[in-house]
Amino acid sequence: MTETRQVTKTDEEWRAELTPEQYEILRRHGTERAWTGRYVDSKADGTYACAACGNELFSSETKFESGTGWPSFTEPADRANVELKEDRSYGMRRTEVLCARCGGHLGHVFPDGPGETGERFCINSAALQLHERSGS
Ligand code: FE
Repeated sequence: MTETRQVTKTDEEWRAELTPEQYEILRRHGTERAWTGRYVDSKADGTYACAACGNELFSSETKFESGTGWPSFTEPADRANVELKEDRSYGMRRTEVLCARCGGHLGHVFPDGPGETGERFCINSAALQLHERSGS
């Protein structure tokens, strides 16, 4: 299922389009430093979309305080919108979370979440764009 992306761009195009921080995280699988991201403490109502392609990824209704320093969610807005992949980098065994539409790296999912799913989606702020719900 790797080449079913709806959004495919060259590395140069991504580099031109994204900020250096977004590029480092989304395209080079980087991680922002804990507590530095703009959405860590956000409690605004709305939808978090992929900062690279606009794909709807998470709802603010599933966001919770994880104490980790990264925005954390109990589940994606739609399972089909994210792709999970085993990640054995840095001598760890983790599950990477990617945007299914553009392949951008978002973060990781861990099996210690507080909700019904038991999952904790630990996502970089820089990979997200919040669309606030107005009039709520
Ligand atoms: Fe995307």
